[in-house]
This record gives sequence, structure tokens and C-alpha cells, in this order.
Amino acid sequence: MIRLAVRCGPAAADRVLAELLRLAPGGVEEDGGPGWVEYAIYGSPGELPELGTITAVSTGEPIEVTSEEIPDDWADRWRDFHEPIWIADRVLIRPSWESVEREAVVDVVIDPGQAFGTGAHPTTRMCVELLLELADAGEASGRLVDLGTGSGVLAIVAAKLGWSPVVAVDHEVAAVEAVAANAAANAVEVEPRRVNLREQAPPSARTVVANLTAPLLLEVSARLQGPPRALICSGLLEREVGEVVSAFERAGLRPVDRLAQGDWAAIGFRS
Ligand code: SAH
Repeated sequence: MIRLAVRCGPAAADRVLAELLRLAPGGVEEDGGPGWVEYAIYGSPGELPELGTITAVSTGEPIEVTSEEIPDDWADRWRDFHEPIWIADRVLIRPSWESVEREAVVDVVIDPGQAFGTGAHPTTRMCVELLLELADAGEASGRLVDLGTGSGVLAIVAAKLGWSPVVAVDHEVAAVEAVAANAAANAVEVEPRRVNLREQAPPSARTVVANLTAPLLLEVSARLQGPPRALICSGLLEREVGEVVSAFERAGLRPVDRLAQGDWAAIGFRS
């Protein structure tokens, strides 16, 4: 097992993180101090990305890339950086080994295993915020699909907020397995479904949440079988918003809400 660490200044951090997440959907470890931030990913030598891809995202800022051989303890390392996350003071997403210090309206336990999604990523948090807005508008009912579900974190939050049935889609076997285990741990019903969104149409639903990259969102927009009543998407960068909005507009949706965190954006659409 190799630990590949990328250290940079805060100005380059969002771009480095975006690039690493694209290359390593299994998760990125984050550490930082005054004036620097370090992201690290783990993998066998053959799985890890070419270093050139990472250094290329720099715009003149020094980026330091180091790689070191580490013991094969991926699972334990997840624990080191999977911290409890509060969203909008209502939703708590935590690993099972962290206890609750104060009661959350929605308490979600997630053990991501090899799948992406501890709740910590800004795009996930923004999707949860937009789900909460729909719930507050009395729209948390009926069928919801979570496209690119990873650990199932958004599907489980949705099920706890009242949507039913909830279908959780991913192309990775690890994700499908993680969703089933996490849904059981949270005592909610979620139907995991293995679908490759590059090749197949997403299952239709009244509400769709899609935390994917911009290229995948464009593919999804072209394959929607009729516009959902509400669609939340994230995983795109600010500069990709225009293209993604136009694509969903062509699919019969209009943007009604927009959030941003760092370089990341999230958009809420209605039909
Ligand atoms: N919804 C989770 C995970 C988002 S990461 C969260 O917010 O934390 C994006 C997910 O999309 C990953 O789990 C990845 O496996 C999945 N994915 C990537 N390409 C896909 C494809 N072609 N078809 C289906 N799922 C895909």
C-alpha cells in the first residue's frame, strides 16, 4: 500500500482536492496548518494516479508530492479522518464508533468501507442542505433516487427525512455493498441498484439527487426519462455551472437554488 500525499497552499487547495477526488473516489485524507494543506490518498502502486496529473493543476503555486510505502491498513486509516459532521445544526453524520454528544434531528451512522462518502465533502453537505430545504417545503415524500450513492449517505439522509421508496445507484460493487450495510445500520429501507450512468438511463423518480462530476451530470441530463419534480445536483465546479444548468434546462428543468463552497457548486432544479 502506498500513501500519496499532495501538499499545497490554500489558494490551490480546492483544485488539488477536486483533481484527487476525481482520481480517487475511495476518499481523500485531509490535514493542514497555517498556510498549507495536505491531501493524501491510498492505493496499490498500479491504482494510484500519475503524478503529472496532480502537479498540472497548479497555477504557479508550489505543490509538493510525496509517496511513501505504508502497512496495508486502509480500513483503520479511514477511522482517523472520519469525524462526526453536523449539517444545518440538524443532521449529524458520524461513524458508528463516535458517540452522540447531543441529539440530532437526523442521526446517520456511516461506515464507508471502500465506498466514497463520509458526509464531510462540501458537495455532500450542500446536497444535504438542499434536501433539507425540500423537506422544509413539505416535499420529502414519494420516490427518490440517489445517483452516485457511494456509501449511501444521501440516500439514507433522504429516507430519514421521509422520502420513500429510496433507490441508491452506483456502478461500484463496493458502493452497493456499503449502501446495504449502512441502510441496515440506520434501520431505513434503501434499494441499492448497480447502474453504470455512462451507459444506462437513471431510474426515474419524483426527486433526484446526483452528486457526480460535471461530465456525468451532462450524461444524466441527456438520459432522463422525463424531468423529475425536483433535482439536486452537485460535484461540479463553479466554472462548470453554466454548462450543467443549460443541459438540465434542455431536459425540462429550471434552476431555483444555488449553493457554493470553495470552488464547488450545488444546484437545485424544479420542473
Ligand atoms: N453520494 C455520495 C458519493 C458521491 S461520490 C456522497 O455525496 O458522499 C460519486 C459516486 O459516483 C461514487 O460512489 C462513484 O462510484 C459513483 N459513480 C462514478 N461514476 C459512475 C457511473 N458511471 N455510474 C454510476 N455511479 C458512478
